[in-house]
Amino acid sequence: MRSGRLIAVILLAASVLPAVDPGFARAPSTPPASAPTVAAAGSQVSVAVDHHLHVHSPAILAFLPGYCSSPGRIGKCPEAFTRAYGMAELIAQMDNAGIRRGLIMSTAYLAESPMMVPENPDHANILHAANAWTVAEARKYPGRFGVYIGVNPMTDTALSEIAYWGADPNVTGVKIHLTNSGVDLRDPAQAHKLAKVLRAAARSHLAITIHMRTRAPDYGARDVESFVRVVLPAAGNTPVQIAHAAGWGGTDPQTLSALAAFAKALETQPLLAEHLTFDLAEVWGADTSDANLVAMATVMRRIGLSHFVPASDYPFSGDLARYYGALYPRLPLTPAEWAVIQSNQPAYAQADYYKQRLLVR
Ligand SMILES: [Zn+2]
Repeated sequence: MRSGRLIAVILLAASVLPAVDPGFARAPSTPPASAPTVAAAGSQVSVAVDHHLHVHSPAILAFLPGYCSSPGRIGKCPEAFTRAYGMAELIAQMDNAGIRRGLIMSTAYLAESPMMVPENPDHANILHAANAWTVAEARKYPGRFGVYIGVNPMTDTALSEIAYWGADPNVTGVKIHLTNSGVDLRDPAQAHKLAKVLRAAARSHLAITIHMRTRAPDYGARDVESFVRVVLPAAGNTPVQIAHAAGWGGTDPQTLSALAAFAKALETQPLLAEHLTFDLAEVWGADTSDANLVAMATVMRRIGLSHFVPASDYPFSGDLARYYGALYPRLPLTPAEWAVIQSNQPAYAQADYYKQRLLVR
């Protein structure tokens, strides 16, 4: 995975894809001068809960200079990725956009990314410190945030970290990032290892958010089939949120292929949908083509709009009021369909989720 071939793949991916979750190069979401205009379905999308946010911990901010210059990465980390900011900025952004609650995803998994070459000998402590900071910050604002710890499902740390945080009522769930953790869903051993981590999260009744797009250049239906067959059953009744509508930000043939594969799986196994949601974090932007917007809306309808939740991937979304006010309405849904998405507030996003989580035992 640290081979020249992989590096070429990453370079290719970084050069053609519009947006990627933390830990991967991405272009800024500033609209190009020639951005196409699409009549908005509604003049503004107002969102009560943002289901995918980030704030780097001091431990990760200290780790980033080494990570960003690692030979395991290609190119510099984007400015939005390395910028230090705190909860005050995030809260001001949420207030300005009228968002009352958010789910913060710890970026601790960066400390154990295979893109960090050589591995930092202190990786497990950095990961734990990053999770501890994120949990502690979120709990300073009762009711305002749910918080997900971060792990790399391929490392030994994952299971002990899940066991540690599983009993903490301040923690909502676990965030897993397959691109950044270098997971290959086509490798049966890796898929089974990932399933084991989901099973551990489920045992602790921790919700799961997974950025499941891998580095495979032809990522898509094939990977989703493996995920649905080998990995997802391990989550049992635990809620699973698939980040970026099964992509990594942006709408492209790979993302549409993956989401269509979910639609197909859910048509034949409707029970799978019971605990499954897809977050709409940076899935389209100012430069998404009209054809891709229509294709995305079409496959979302096949799955059912009740399975999609609003999300930004802040800070990558840029200003939240602009993101939800100007970019979100570009997706050509009817006002009634938008109303469904805006009202989707799954149990794990609620402030009292810990009661369900810890009292079901
Ligand atoms: Zn993210």
